[in-house]
Amino acid sequence: MINKAFLNKFMVKPGKKLAFDELDPGWASHKDLLDKFGEERVKKIAKKILTRNLDSLNQAHNLLWASDTYGVLVILQAMDAAGKDGIIRHVMSGLNPQGCMVHNFKKPTPDELDHNFLWRYMRALPQRGRIGIFNRSYYEDVLAVKVHPEFLDFQKLPPGVRSENLWKHRYSDINHFEKHLTRNGIVILKFYLHISKDEQRRRLLDRLNNPAKHWKFSDNDLPERAHWDKYMTAYEDAITATSTEWAPWYVIPANHKWASRTLVADVLTGTIAGLGLDFPKITPERKKSLERAKIQLEAEAEENTEEGLSA
Ligand code: ATP
Ligand code: MG
Repeated sequence: MINKAFLNKFMVKPGKKLAFDELDPGWASHKDLLDKFGEERVKKIAKKILTRNLDSLNQAHNLLWASDTYGVLVILQAMDAAGKDGIIRHVMSGLNPQGCMVHNFKKPTPDELDHNFLWRYMRALPQRGRIGIFNRSYYEDVLAVKVHPEFLDFQKLPPGVRSENLWKHRYSDINHFEKHLTRNGIVILKFYLHISKDEQRRRLLDRLNNPAKHWKFSDNDLPERAHWDKYMTAYEDAITATSTEWAPWYVIPANHKWASRTLVADVLTGTIAGLGLDFPKITPERKKSLERAKIQLEAEAEENTEEGLSA
């Protein structure tokens, strides 16, 4: 596991204004570390930590499942090609598939637009014992919708709601919603995968140059990229307003996939381990009945052996 003080560097302190200018998606803000050990060595260590973490994550998930008290909601937000899918694949490989769900949120359907903006996300929340991953989330309603205010035309909002305070009100709705969830046993982890505009260009070009990756390229990727600066401002505002004690944001440097995957898996594993869970305690009566079951099964084996010998 990575030490907590180091991981905390990636957490956005509640009340502190986030400024992407101060954070390097290539991890140069932690250049001391890269300089001291060299990038190749840090990469090798990160991969080792990831493998070990996936084991610990599996154990932590087992406890989460057995104790049936908390659910974990992992929110992934990022610009296109930042590596959300890769993170999901890696983290999922350390989880029991029965207890893990992934939900991808695209543009809302007419049915979804007939409800309050949080409705479709509420329906997809993880049950106790499970880990739910939201690949995009209700944050799109203060990100994509803020960058494209024309989307509001489809949201059938009552008069007066579409005021200058709309975004502030939505941040507040989100904070209250998340407070409600955490009070009721849903642990929330929010990750923004931070890539540079240049790294996105490289990754999109790679998709265009490689026929096996053509399917990953969407016609919408370039039009959205054209709004890069507006998205960055929308992200800064939304993350600043919604990084709370109960549901903090982590801004994860994502230009290197080995770094982002290791960091996300580590925060997730550490958070579940930090819940102090234990396997459910059994009552003395239950212990006795398990003993009886054991004696019965052992006797069955003895009878079978006796029958086999006397036949
Ligand atoms: P990938 O590109 O890896 O397949 P993706 O999450 O980018 O995954 P897309 O189908 O490319 O999936 O994009 C989904 C689009 O839906 C994004 O542009 C996103 O901003 C948009 N979207 C998601 N939620 C909302 C929402 N509530 N309102 C408006 N647009 C939304
Ligand atoms: Mg996309």
